[in-house]
Amino acid sequence: MYDVVIIGAGITGTVLARDLSAYHLKIAVVEKENDIADGATMANSAIVHTGYDPKPGTMKAKMNVLGARLYPKLCEDLSLHVKTVGAFIAACGEEEEKHLDILAQRADEREIPYRFLSGDEARKEEENLSDGVTKVLDFYTTTVIYPWEAANACMEVAMKNGADLYLNSEVTGIEKNEYGYIIHTVKDDLITRTVVNAAGVCADRIAAMIMGDPGFEIQARRGEYYVLDQDAQPVKHIIFPVPSPVKGKGVLAVPTVYGNTLIGPNSDFIDDPLDNGTSFDGLAYVRQNISKTLKNIPLNRSIRTFAGVRPTCSKHDFIIEEAEGFPGFINAAGIESPGLASAPGISRYIIDELLSKRLILKEDPEAVLTREAPVVLSELSTEERNEMIRKNPAYGKIVCRCEQISEGEIIDCIHRVCGARSVKGVKKRVRPGMGRCQGGFCEPLVVNILARELGISPLEVVLDSEASRILESENRK
Ligand SMILES: Cc1cc2nc3c(=O)[nH]c(=O)nc-3n(C[C@H](O)[C@H](O)[C@H](O)COP(=O)(O)OP(=O)(O)OC[C@H]3O[C@@H](n4cnc5c(N)ncnc54)[C@H](O)[C@@H]3O)c2cc1C
Repeated sequence: MYDVVIIGAGITGTVLARDLSAYHLKIAVVEKENDIADGATMANSAIVHTGYDPKPGTMKAKMNVLGARLYPKLCEDLSLHVKTVGAFIAACGEEEEKHLDILAQRADEREIPYRFLSGDEARKEEENLSDGVTKVLDFYTTTVIYPWEAANACMEVAMKNGADLYLNSEVTGIEKNEYGYIIHTVKDDLITRTVVNAAGVCADRIAAMIMGDPGFEIQARRGEYYVLDQDAQPVKHIIFPVPSPVKGKGVLAVPTVYGNTLIGPNSDFIDDPLDNGTSFDGLAYVRQNISKTLKNIPLNRSIRTFAGVRPTCSKHDFIIEEAEGFPGFINAAGIESPGLASAPGISRYIIDELLSKRLILKEDPEAVLTREAPVVLSELSTEERNEMIRKNPAYGKIVCRCEQISEGEIIDCIHRVCGARSVKGVKKRVRPGMGRCQGGFCEPLVVNILARELGISPLEVVLDSEASRILESENRK
């Protein structure tokens, strides 16, 4: 019997799994996809918002401020890529400037540092800021991370501390029994004392499996992006328009930890919560709206477009609470933006305020909550690289020319705990296919490496889901 079963291996579920693995508890994470973090955690703006935006008194505000404060330690413990870029909130005209004052007031109350710049001062630091920008509020401590890396690192730590991960295990039903709950999945049935529902856009469906009417609905709200090539870096800071109650944070430009720039997202309610395709209209909206705050955006240097789906809650806030009448069944629902920034805060809140009332939380002195960074060859000096290649010649074979990823790094990511099992799994972990050619050259090589390392035929290698085989049949020996 498990003490805690977490449904959903996004950033909410994986950070919680890592933090819970510090205690003497039996933990499982159940995920419907073939890899962790395939939902909103995979496709977002990657910003650790400092917490100035959410309305006072909301769970969003509380979790965001707490989460953002916990991130530096989390990043250090897990050796994550993180970059302090600062966030410019760019106002155009007097009306919008008034809103900057509201945000600054919230920041004062939450002890978040900022500075004001005039439009001209800001343009000296950001030459592509549009001429219509009259005033900027700079939250200069804002960072960007690689959300997928954070989730993967958390899951790896949790598993090393004994947590179980069930992939391809969609939860199909939940029953209450005298000890707690039975979680029915398409593969196994798990018995557990407590449950945390961290199922993103499906969290209302999971809650309904036990509560009937959970009292909230999740609506899927899609956001689409352009990804610009690394050598086209039009901004140094994250550039936001002034946020609006209807369109949220608006269309942004975000410098990523790897030197690409994201331009987006739009904000469109969609019927199918699992539809993460981009659309003609959505991308047109992005193109049109980025020009409000920025000029000379080289969209012709786009190497990819993608979309993420926000789980927007009918209660307009995060729902992080025990379900009434169901002791030990905890919903972490409606975790839309700033859910990435809030994840470490949400995890602490669930452990300290909710699970602590149902479980005995005794720290495990053997648990290790830190993670050693994987080798990233392109980040090493020539001497260090040569030394690595001398020890293991696979580090000398470059597989992905765009991102300079070696075969050694790909082999490492397959054999690490919570390792890659698909081409996309390798891409997310060590980035072959993230560059200009988008896998055109390296994908066949990655297929062969996966087949060899997993001891399977290349015909069995999948792109992403269990059903997404790439090769149909052998046509030549
Ligand atoms: C366009 C966009 C931009 C954003 N930008 C930011 C940002 O810059 N900063 C920020 O702080 N936040 C941002 N967010 C929000 C952030 O991405 C989310 O809040 C966060 O990723 C939510 O994580 P999660 O783990 O709760 O959900 P998810 O990552 O969606 O994970 C839920 C998991 O549950 C699994 N699941 C669902 N149903 C089942 C089932 N029946 N059985 C088993 N598993 C199941 C899913 O497969 C999924 O892996 C953005 C979101 C979007 C979409």
